[in-house]
Amino acid sequence: QPAVNLKEVVKVYANQSEEQVALRGVNLTIWPGEFVTIQGPSGSGKTTLLNIIAGFEKPTRGKIEVFGIDVSTLKGKKLADFRYSYIGFVFQQFYLIPSLTAIENVIIPVMPRHTDFDKYKKALLLLKEVGLSGKESSLPSELSGGEQQRVALARALMSNPRIILADEPTGNLDTSTGEKIIEILKSINEKYRTTIIIVTHNDEIAKNSPVKIFMKDGRILEVLRNA
Ligand code: ADP
Ligand code: ADP
Repeated sequence: QPAVNLKEVVKVYANQSEEQVALRGVNLTIWPGEFVTIQGPSGSGKTTLLNIIAGFEKPTRGKIEVFGIDVSTLKGKKLADFRYSYIGFVFQQFYLIPSLTAIENVIIPVMPRHTDFDKYKKALLLLKEVGLSGKESSLPSELSGGEQQRVALARALMSNPRIILADEPTGNLDTSTGEKIIEILKSINEKYRTTIIIVTHNDEIAKNSPVKIFMKDGRILEVLRNA
């Protein structure tokens, strides 16, 4: 069963008088445990594709399944439950809550759930896993960009998602800091077989990716899989 399966997905944004076609019939299959990069010019539909996989956006036409679940029909609590169990999202702007410490930011996604689980212990473990032991009580403002992105990554992992979607996760980081974030994503991919999908403008990051997707003008031009 594919992790992600899109069939003829079209996305049209209708703003006032203007229509923007973001996706023009996308077909794509991603298998569980794959490590995928998506490249393409600005405006080619990369973010829209991630948002549709996460259920943040509905396709205008076509079908999207995530582990066999028809995401486009989900609403309300069902959509929230789907996202919780399946999707971890990492953004270019880390989106941490400034008034909360690192560990509090990591615990947030599981707050309303999981009374049977030691949330604190798990958040500690994840912060250790992303290399932030000792920084649990730091506020985002006391952390570097790379460290803030590590917190965001730990937060995304808190629900053991099957898929991590990362939209330009290194876009605000210098090269070596960004490379470390990618290394962490690779280790998560290897350790838990989490499917990882990264939108990036960075050729160095994409260079060694086992699955490379190239988009242009709302279409997938090419999917390259390393043999
Ligand atoms: P990329 O991530 O490759 O830069 P996007 O998915 O952000 O591409 O955008 C694809 C196209 O859809 C662009 O033309 C963009 O202007 C348009 N678009 C994206 N989001 C919206 C939106 N919320 N409303 C209207 N148009 C949008
Ligand atoms: P839960 O009770 O929330 O389902 P598990 O019992 O599945 O948690 O997880 C136990 C431990 O395994 C966690 O502390 C976590 O470190 C690790 N783990 C398992 N899967 C993942 C994953 N996909 N991402 C991060 N950590 C994971």
